[in-house]
Amino acid sequence: MILFSNFFTNINFLKIALISFFLVFVSSEANSNNDLNKIRISYDDNTSKLRVVFDANKKINYVLSSDNKKNTIKIDLKNIVTGKKFSRPKIEKKYIEFLKLTKNKNNLKFFIKPNGEFQYKYFSLEPKNNYGYRLVLDIFIETDTVKEFTKKVKKIKKGKIVIAIDAGHGGKDPGAVGRSGTLEKDIVLSISKKLYNLLKKEKNIKPVLIRNKDYYIPLRQRIKKARRYKADLFISIHADAAHNRKAQGSSVYVLSQHGATSEAAKWLANKENSSDLVGGVSIDDKENDLAQVILDLSQSATIETSIKASSILLSKLGKISKLHSKNIEQAGFVVLKSPDIPSILVETAFLSNRKEEKKLRTKKFQNNVAKALRDGIVEIIKKGII
Ligand SMILES: [Zn+2]
Repeated sequence: MILFSNFFTNINFLKIALISFFLVFVSSEANSNNDLNKIRISYDDNTSKLRVVFDANKKINYVLSSDNKKNTIKIDLKNIVTGKKFSRPKIEKKYIEFLKLTKNKNNLKFFIKPNGEFQYKYFSLEPKNNYGYRLVLDIFIETDTVKEFTKKVKKIKKGKIVIAIDAGHGGKDPGAVGRSGTLEKDIVLSISKKLYNLLKKEKNIKPVLIRNKDYYIPLRQRIKKARRYKADLFISIHADAAHNRKAQGSSVYVLSQHGATSEAAKWLANKENSSDLVGGVSIDDKENDLAQVILDLSQSATIETSIKASSILLSKLGKISKLHSKNIEQAGFVVLKSPDIPSILVETAFLSNRKEEKKLRTKKFQNNVAKALRDGIVEIIKKGII
């Protein structure tokens, strides 16, 4: 059985990291001495995760606090005795800048400064198999070294960065219709193919088209297809429409937090969907609380990455087109809802605007959009964002 602090089950960790400077959580129970056998520290290069496990004979009584300004976590473990066998955990400099253990009577202070910005979660575990009571602290670090390492692993694993290009609509769904009858599905397919051909020339990129002809694919099917391709980035290409005929310019969307929250609930409700989630971390065999946390962490990180990536695309689009909005928009679009694939929706221009409809039909503008997106994607990869 996995126990969680109630507070943590319901909120998003990233938000905590951003808005709070100092947090204190107190666990209750236990006052007689507790034998701390070991502190284990393990590292996972693929996820940049640092896991600290405190092994004890009884349920650990502790106070955990984090200081986000100083980038530190402190845990006061109460009523702790350490036997002769107890030894300090080994530290890997790549992940930990500083770790300190101090003992004052029966209280042990654990102080850690991970190497770089981080998010964290923690939970208690009851005895199971060969293990006794445990307090687990998971720290997800973002360091350049780790980023570089992860990228290398990714390259070794997959060879190329996979970009899924999703031409919006198709088949029975024409999308927006221009005043002279231009269909969104045709324009965006043409731009998508151009982008595909440009990306194919890049050595380290493997582009895939979610649809390459005029047929209908349900939205969730598009996400599934991207996952099957093991996409590193998903870009859905569209042309906008508005009641206001004067509306014009390009815009870029990523998933909103609200859309993410409702999506996480859906994934959890459907355990079958969740089995291949989050970089090989299956959540279907875990308690729902933990699953929620994994999803939250994954989705938050994915949205973060999507925002970083989309701001580059937006600036590239700004060079070849007017921008409808200078900011990245956030919405609950279904195609953006992969919990673990950064996803961006690009509205190239307005089909409902007579001038832009004309422009959207030209090979020149279609090429310009494709080139701008290609340049953006190349920069996103160069900067190590994906
Ligand atoms: Zn559309």
